[in-house]
Amino acid sequence: MSNPNNMNEQTEEKSEKISRNFIQNIIDKDLEEGTYDKVVTRFPPEPNGYLHIGHAKSILLNAGLAKEYHGDFHLRFDDTNPMKEKSEFVDSIMEDVKWICGDLDSEQVYYASDYFDQMYECAVKLIKKGKAFVCDLSAEEMREYRGTLKEPGKNSPYRDRSIEENLDLFERMRAGEFEDGSRVLRAKIDMASPNINMRDPILYRVARMNHHNTGDKWCIYPMYDFAHPIEDAIEGVTHSICTLEFEDHRPLYNWVVQELEFDHPPKQIEFAKLYLTNVVTGKRYIKKLVEDGIVDGWDDPRLVSIAALRRRGFTPESIRMFMELSGVSKAQSSSDYAMLEYCIREDLKMKRARMMAVLDPIKLVITNYPENEIEYLDVSNNQENEEMGTRKVPFGKVLYIDRQDFMIEPPRKYFRLYPGNEVRLMNAYFVTCTDYVTDEDGNVTEVHCTYDPETKSGSGFTGRKVKGTIQWVCAETAEKAEVRLYENIVDEEKGVYNEDGSINVNPNSLTVLENCYVEPALAEAEPMDSFQFVRHGYFVVDSKDSTKDHLVFNRIVSMKSSYRPK
Ligand code: ATP
Ligand code: MG
Repeated sequence: MSNPNNMNEQTEEKSEKISRNFIQNIIDKDLEEGTYDKVVTRFPPEPNGYLHIGHAKSILLNAGLAKEYHGDFHLRFDDTNPMKEKSEFVDSIMEDVKWICGDLDSEQVYYASDYFDQMYECAVKLIKKGKAFVCDLSAEEMREYRGTLKEPGKNSPYRDRSIEENLDLFERMRAGEFEDGSRVLRAKIDMASPNINMRDPILYRVARMNHHNTGDKWCIYPMYDFAHPIEDAIEGVTHSICTLEFEDHRPLYNWVVQELEFDHPPKQIEFAKLYLTNVVTGKRYIKKLVEDGIVDGWDDPRLVSIAALRRRGFTPESIRMFMELSGVSKAQSSSDYAMLEYCIREDLKMKRARMMAVLDPIKLVITNYPENEIEYLDVSNNQENEEMGTRKVPFGKVLYIDRQDFMIEPPRKYFRLYPGNEVRLMNAYFVTCTDYVTDEDGNVTEVHCTYDPETKSGSGFTGRKVKGTIQWVCAETAEKAEVRLYENIVDEEKGVYNEDGSINVNPNSLTVLENCYVEPALAEAEPMDSFQFVRHGYFVVDSKDSTKDHLVFNRIVSMKSSYRPK
C-alpha cells in the first residue's frame, strides 16, 4: 500500500500547480529561460475617471505578481491624452490603488508624461531608420486609404518622403508651425497587413492642448499604441498585462519595442476583463446615473467604483478574495455579485463585533421587571472569536424589538413572539408574551411580556428550552440611527439596459430607515467602522453623512447568502 502521507504531499503539489494561472506559467518560463531576471509589472490607468472593480482586478493581478516574484509594481498614470484627463482623477486613483494594495510607495508612482522627451527621441530614431514618415493626408483621406477588413489599404502619397524631409517636418510639427490635425507622424509598416493596426498607424499628432503636468510645452502628443510600449520599456516593465481588446494591438506593440531596439523588451499579455452580472460598470453609464441625480455621486454605495465599494464597507481583503475566486483567464466570463457578498461576509465574520440593532422598532414592556432599573449584561463581542472580548449591554423594563419578531396570529413554524409564547431575548432572559397594544389602525405599538429571572443568559439555566431568539435594545439608553438598505441599482428582472441604451433603474434600490435604534456602544463608532447587526447583516458607518448627532449606517450585506462556494 502506498504511504498516505506521501499521497497527501503529491496531491498538494499537484493542486498548487493546477491553480497557477496562464500568466504565472509564462513568467515561470521567462525566468527559467533567463529572458528576464526580475519581474516588473504595472497598472496604467488613464486619469480620466474613477476606478471601478474591474480595475481592482488589474491592480491586484499586477501587484500580486510583482509580490509573488519579488519584483516591482508600478502605478503609472497613462497621461498622454490631455483632452480627457483631469488631475482630480490622479488623486482619487492614487487613493484607490493605495487602499486596494494596502500601501503604495511614492517611488512606485510614475507618469507617462515624464517621458515625452524620450518618446520624441524615439520618433526621431524611427524616422532616421526610415520607419516613420510625416503624412499630410486629412483624417478623411486617411480613412479612405486605410482599406477595410476585407481589402488592403493604399500607401499614402507622402510615404516616400526622404528621411531629411521627415526630420525637418517633424521638428516643425513640434515647433508649432502647423495647424492642429494638419500633419501626423506615421509608422511605415504595411498597408496590406490583414491587421489594420499595422497599416502605417499614427504615432504623433499635432494638438494644442494644455497638459496637467507639462503645461504648454508640447503641441504634439504621442498616440497610445506608440506611447505605451515605450513607457513600459523605459520603466523596465517585463510583463505588460492588459485586457483582451488589445490583443490585435500586440503586433504593433512588438514592432515598436523591436524597432526601437530596447534591451530585454517588455512582453504584452492579455487576459479577460472582469464582468459582473447585472451590474453597471461602464464609465459612461455611471456618469449618466450621477448626472441624472439617480445616485449620490461616484461613491454612491450602490455603485461598484472602488470609492463606492469602500463607502459601502467592503474591505480590500474581501475584494482580494473575490479576485482569487474569480480567477484569471483568457476566456470572457461574468462573475456574480453574490460571490462578492460572500467574500465580505467571510472577511468580516471573525473580525467584527456582533451588536444588537432594531431597524423597525416596537416597544416591548416587561411588566414584572423593576421600574427605573438598568442592569448591565456581559455580552461576548463575537461568539466565534473569543479574543474580541466582551462588552456591557444595558437592559431595562422597556426595550425595542423588531416589528417582524412579533405576530398576533403567527403562521405555523413561527417561533418568535406571539401571545402566550416564550422566546429568548438574545444575551438576556426568557420572556413570555402576555398582551399587546394596537393603535386605531390595528398596528401593534407595544408588546407586553413577563420575564423569568432564572433564565439569565450565562447563568447556566437548563430548566427548559425555547425555539426562538430575538434581538432587542434598551429603550432608555439606545442610540437613534438612520440605516440605509441597498439593492441593485439595476432592475434585474428587466435586465441592465433598455432598448435605447439607458439603464433600467430599480426604484427600490435605496431604502432609508430613519427610526432605528442601536446599542449605546455604537455612539462611539467612527466613519468607516463596521459591525454585524445580529440577524440583519453587516453595516458600516457612512463616511459622508454620519455625524455624532446623526448616526448613519449603510448595510454592506445581509446575512442571507445565495452563493455557495464550490
Ligand atoms: P473603462 O473602459 O471601464 O472605463 P478603461 O480600460 O478605459 O476602463 P484604463 O484607465 O484605460 O480604463 O484602464 C487601466 C487598466 O485597467 C487597463 O490595463 C485595463 O485593461 C484595465 N481594466 C479596465 N477595465 C477592466 C476590467 N473590467 N477588468 C480587468 N481589467 C480592466
Ligand atoms: Mg481606456
